[in-house]
Amino acid sequence: MKITCITVFQVDLPLEHPYWLSGGRLKFEVLDATLVKVETDAGITGWGQGTPWGHTYVPAHGPGIRAGIATMAPFIMGLDPRRVLVVERAMDLALPGHLYAKSPIDMACWDIAGQAAGMPIADLIGGGSRTPRPIASSVGANTVEETREVMERYRARGYGAHSVKIGGDVVREISRIRDVESIRREGEIVLYDVNRGWTRQQALRVMSATEDFNVMFEQPCETFDDIAAIAGKHAAPVSVDETLVTLQDAARIARDGLAEVFGIKLNRVGGLTKAARMRDIALAHGIDMFVMATGGSVLADTEALHLAATIPDANCHAVWACQDMLTVDIAGGRGPRNIKGHLHLPEEPGLGVHPDEEALGDPVAVYS
Ligand code: MG
Repeated sequence: MKITCITVFQVDLPLEHPYWLSGGRLKFEVLDATLVKVETDAGITGWGQGTPWGHTYVPAHGPGIRAGIATMAPFIMGLDPRRVLVVERAMDLALPGHLYAKSPIDMACWDIAGQAAGMPIADLIGGGSRTPRPIASSVGANTVEETREVMERYRARGYGAHSVKIGGDVVREISRIRDVESIRREGEIVLYDVNRGWTRQQALRVMSATEDFNVMFEQPCETFDDIAAIAGKHAAPVSVDETLVTLQDAARIARDGLAEVFGIKLNRVGGLTKAARMRDIALAHGIDMFVMATGGSVLADTEALHLAATIPDANCHAVWACQDMLTVDIAGGRGPRNIKGHLHLPEEPGLGVHPDEEALGDPVAVYS
C-alpha cells in the first residue's frame, strides 16, 4: 500500500464561550484546525487533525502545521502508511522537531492501518479497554462565582472530572480552591491546572495553604528546574503536561520523580506513535495519565481516546472532549460523544470517525 495523495484543509473552530488560560491570561475564542486526508492506492483513506490550543499557549502554531506538511509531504509520498514507524522516521528526517506538525499525518496513518486490519486503532496497538473514559472539563474562570458557574454547567452535562484553571493571584486562587473543595462531590476528579502561571514561591504558598485537601496541581511552574526546586517542599501530587513534549522529557520526569501524573497531549508530542512510548515510560514508573488532544473536533478527541483505551483502567484518570467547547461540528454528530460524562471507544476499524468533507470548505493544499 502506498500514500498517493495528501489533501489539507483549514477550519476555524469557534469556542462556545471565550476561554481564558489560568490566571486570566491569554483569552481565545477560536481554534485554527488543520484537517488532513491521506489517500492510498488501496482505496483506503485516513484522516488526521492538528489543532493547537491557540497560538499563544505553548510553541505550536496553527499555520505552522500546514507549512510543516508542505515540507514533509514529498518525503512521505509513496510510503506504506501502515508502517507508521517508517513514516515517523521520514518525517523526523525531513523536519527535525516541530512535533505538532507531524501529529495529523501520524494520526491518518494509524487510521489507515486500522481500516486495513479491520480493527479499531486501540486494538491494533495492543488492546483497547472498553471501560468508558471519564471526560474532564476545562474550567477557564477567574472568580469563585465564575468557577462555580462553569463547573455547574459541566456537571449538568454529566461531567464528573474537572480541570480547574488557576495560576493567577495567590490569595484569590487559594479561595477558589477552598471553594471548589467545599462543593466537590464524592468521587469527583478535580485537577488544578496552573498552566505554568506561578513562580516557585507562589506555587509553594498555594500548595502549603491547601495542603489539608491533598489536591493535585498541573504544571505549577514554567520549567522542570522550577518543579524540581519545589519538589521536596510540598506534599501535593503534581501532573506535568506543557513541558512533556519529547520522550526525553518523559524520561527525565520519571528519572527525577518530578510528577505523579503525565498529561499526554497527542498533538503536542507528535501523535499517537510518540505518545504511546510516553505511556510505556509512565507505566514502567508508576505514573498515571490524563490523555487528551491539545484541541480540536471529535476526530482529535477520538485519537486521544484510542490511546487512553490502551492504558490500564486504574492508571488512566480522564480524557477530554474539546468538541463540547465548540459551536461547530465537522462530523455531523458521529464518533464518540459525551454520554453521562464519558466517552466510549468506537468499534469501527481505524479511527472510527471521519469528517463531513463538505463542512471543511475547499482544500488549502493538495500533494500528490
Ligand atoms: Mg494543563
